[in-house]
Amino acid sequence: MGNGLGFGEMLGMLKATLAGIPEHREGQNRRYEIADAVLSAFSVFFMQSPSFLAYQREMERKKGKNNARSLFGVQVIPSDGQTRNLLDPVVPAWLGASFWEIYARLAEGGLLEGYRGVGGTRLISLDGSQYFSSQRIHCDNCRVTVQDKQTTYSHQVLLAVLCAPGQEHVVCLEPEFILPQDGHEKQDCEQQAMKRWIHLHASRFAPWSVTILADDLHCHQPICEELLAHKMHFIMTCKPESHPALYEEVELLQRVKGGISTRTERFWNGRYHEKWVYRWVEQVPLRMGADALLAQWCELTIVREETGEQVYHNAWATDHEVNEQTVVSVVASGRSRWKVENEGFNVLKNRGYNFEHNYGHGSQYLSAVLLTLLLLAFLFHTALGLGSQVYQAVRRALAVRRTFFNDLRALTRYLYFSGWEELLTFMYVQLELGSA
Ligand SMILES: [Zn+2]
Repeated sequence: MGNGLGFGEMLGMLKATLAGIPEHREGQNRRYEIADAVLSAFSVFFMQSPSFLAYQREMERKKGKNNARSLFGVQVIPSDGQTRNLLDPVVPAWLGASFWEIYARLAEGGLLEGYRGVGGTRLISLDGSQYFSSQRIHCDNCRVTVQDKQTTYSHQVLLAVLCAPGQEHVVCLEPEFILPQDGHEKQDCEQQAMKRWIHLHASRFAPWSVTILADDLHCHQPICEELLAHKMHFIMTCKPESHPALYEEVELLQRVKGGISTRTERFWNGRYHEKWVYRWVEQVPLRMGADALLAQWCELTIVREETGEQVYHNAWATDHEVNEQTVVSVVASGRSRWKVENEGFNVLKNRGYNFEHNYGHGSQYLSAVLLTLLLLAFLFHTALGLGSQVYQAVRRALAVRRTFFNDLRALTRYLYFSGWEELLTFMYVQLELGSA
């Protein structure tokens, strides 16, 4: 396996994290039951199969053994109701260590060398996402909004992922949940969560080794100053509507010859010629006032050369130096910002959210805990894809993700495997990808 990070090692990290969960049932030793509940819910997300546990209960009845135990270490499979009750009081941050341990192992193993952006920095995208919404079901931690006399209950999270230009997959890091007390406006809520994430996690990275990518919503002085104070760079989408002072300056410079630096490149994209026009300005104010933070502004416009039709345009503000040499790299890094809609993550997310039908919504942390486990399952798959050649070969052979997960589901319904390696090796051999 070389520098790879095996499934067993990652599961071991998760289990070690679970051993540290404080008891929340006084007078009863229920820690092993909590571990079973966490690992059961995790197995459902990892297998992307709502029926996985039902099949394993059935296998246990018939064969006296099951794949939930052999693959995931579930001692006794709890019912969905027990799982709900056991997970509801679990604070999501108690599960956070696993994300960072897996990240550290991937980095130490040299598996993240392709994940570098401008100036060799790691690019971390922070992006808010709504992961639950209902007009009926709610808990103590729901955000409550009323519009036209209609009450809506929802949950939001700030997702943190490592991404890079040209990298198909993202590496999930620990998320930060947006709390009802963070405020009512989307902007305030997300900014509070982002500040918490920065405070909690900036020290995990070497000074100035990270560039935070975020959208226009966060491209404001308080957040940018917070990042600089924690020795982190930023590249953020920067729109004219939300940055009048900055664009006023850009407007003025536009009238001066050479006021705005420009670089043009031409590409043949296989169908037509594209003209890529980069423009940038250094040291422009993020907001009005004498105390305004100065940042670099850059923009990329892609035009179809034959027709003049604009096919892409975006602009960013950054603390990185922007010049003839760096502008392409800064823009490529800014463009790699990961959006929740990308990546097939949505498939996982939508499937994941269906599990609320299994477990319900809970009254405390249940939905946040389930989302955390879903992200962790996503990270496990990414890590296997980065580190295991057998996993890579099987995924390549079963090119459509649905086929891969359908096969996992069917195999583990009918056959018993002593562990993940045996299951994966079985697929590898049967697909005639080589001898294991
Ligand atoms: Zn809720």
